[in-house]
Amino acid sequence: MSELKRVRVRYAPSPTGFVHIGNLRTALYNYLFARHNGGDFILRIEDTDRTRYFPEAVENIINTLKWAGIDYDEGPVKGGLHAPYYQSERLKIYKEHTDFLIKEEKAYYCFCTAERLNMLRREQKNQKLPQTKYDKYCLNLPAREVSKKLNDGIPYVIRLNVEPEKSIRFNDYIRGEVEFSGNTIDDQILIKSDRYPTYHLANVVDDYLMGITHVIRGEEWLPSTPKHVLLYEAFGWKKPIFAHLPLLLNPDRTKLSKRQGDVTVEDYIKKGYLKEALINFIALLGWTAGDDRELYDLNELIDVFTLERVNKSGAIFDIEKLNWLNAEHLRKKSDSELIKSLRNELNKSKYSKLQLSDEYLKKVTDSMKERVSFIKEFYEKGFYFFEEPVTYEETAVRKGWKGKQSEEILKKFKEKINQLENPSRQDYETVLNDTAAELNTGKGNIIHPLRLALTGVSGGPGIIDIMFIIGKEQTIRRIDSITEKLR
Ligand code: GLU
Repeated sequence: MSELKRVRVRYAPSPTGFVHIGNLRTALYNYLFARHNGGDFILRIEDTDRTRYFPEAVENIINTLKWAGIDYDEGPVKGGLHAPYYQSERLKIYKEHTDFLIKEEKAYYCFCTAERLNMLRREQKNQKLPQTKYDKYCLNLPAREVSKKLNDGIPYVIRLNVEPEKSIRFNDYIRGEVEFSGNTIDDQILIKSDRYPTYHLANVVDDYLMGITHVIRGEEWLPSTPKHVLLYEAFGWKKPIFAHLPLLLNPDRTKLSKRQGDVTVEDYIKKGYLKEALINFIALLGWTAGDDRELYDLNELIDVFTLERVNKSGAIFDIEKLNWLNAEHLRKKSDSELIKSLRNELNKSKYSKLQLSDEYLKKVTDSMKERVSFIKEFYEKGFYFFEEPVTYEETAVRKGWKGKQSEEILKKFKEKINQLENPSRQDYETVLNDTAAELNTGKGNIIHPLRLALTGVSGGPGIIDIMFIIGKEQTIRRIDSITEKLR
C-alpha cells in the first residue's frame, strides 16, 4: 500500500441473525489486512434497522470472532477512542450531520405519506420508467411550510438531494473502475421516520469519524457504494478506498444460500469443524497467495495476505475442501491439544462418564490420527476404544469368521495372551506370530476373526495397536464374547 496514513479497517455487521460464513470472511479479510499492515481493526455494530434486530446476534458476533481468534482493537466491550461502537447509541451524531446537510441544502425533509409514495410508484411503473424514484416533491416546499409541519409533529424522513443525471465513478481496489449512472440513484433516505439513520448515512458518517481508510466488504454492497460516494461528496469528505469481495457461490454457481447447505458459522462449529480449518478455508474463498499452497494458520495468513490477490470472480464453497483442511489441521495439532479436544468432545458424548487417562487418549489419537477428519470420529469410528462391540458387521463376519476354525484359533491365541503379564506391543506381536506358527496357519486366519472380536468391524488401525490400547483383559473378554455370540 502506498498509503502513508495508518491503516484502519472495520467489520460492521448488522445484528440480524447468526454470523454468516460470508460475514466471517469479511471480518477475516479486514483483520488480516489490518494486521499485515500494522493497522487497526474495528468492530462496529450497525443496529439501526430496528425491525430486523435479533437480540442474540451481538453476542453471537462477539463470540464467533473470539472463537475464530479474530481479535479486534476497538469495539463493543473493549471500547476505544471512537466509542460508542453501537450505532443505536450514536443517534445524536447522525442528527448533527443531517442538520448540517439540510443547512447546506444538500438534504431536505420529506413529509410524503406512504399512500402518496405508493401512488407515485404505480404511476411511474405504468409509464414504464426503468426505475421508480422519488419526485423531489418536498424539496420545493416553502421553508415556512416545512417549519409548520415540523412544529405540528407531522412524520417525516430526511432525504439526500441527488443531482439527477450525474453519473458516479469510483475506483474499487479489487474491481477497478466502477461507474453507475446517476439516473438510477434515488433521493435516498438518510433519516427514517423512527428517527434512526439508514444504513447508508450511519455507515458513511461512522467510517469517516472513525478514520476508516479502507472499506472491505462483500460485493452485495457494491450497489450501495454510489450512494455512499454521493454522501462523501455532500459532506465534502475524502472517500476511503473501497474493496468489494467476490460473492460466495454454491458449486452450481448460484449464490450461497441456506437452501443448499449450512451458511452460519454456528452450523460449522456444531458440526465439529476446527477453527483453524474454517479460517484457512474461508481465507481461500476469494484469495490465493498466487502459488499452490493451501494450508495456512492464522499467523501465516497475516504474513501473506494482500488485497491485490483477492479475485473478482465468485468464490465457490467446496465442502470437500473444507473437510480435507479439517483433517490436515487436525493432524497438525500437538498431542496435548488433540487430547484436550477429544476430551471436550467425549464429555459431550455418551462416553462422558468414562474415566480415561491422558495416556489412554494419546494411544487412541496416535492410532487413529491418520484415519479421521473430525475429532468426533476418534470415538465414532473408533468406538471400540470406548465400549465393547455389541454387534458384528455382517460383511466382516462373512469374510472373516470361519466358524469352528476361527473359534479354535482364537481359543489358542487367548490362552497365550492369558499367560502374559502386563504385555507390551511386542508381546502381542510375538503371540500372534507364535500362534500362527504353532497352528501352521496364515496370520490372516487369526487377524480377521480377532479384529471382528475386538472391534465388530472390518477396518481400523493395526490389530496389535488395538490390543495394546484396550489391554489384555478386554482382549480376552471380547474373544469370549464373540465365540458365544457367533456360535
Ligand atoms: N451493516 C452492513 C452489513 O451488515 C455493513 C456493510 C458494510 O460493510 O458497509 O454487512
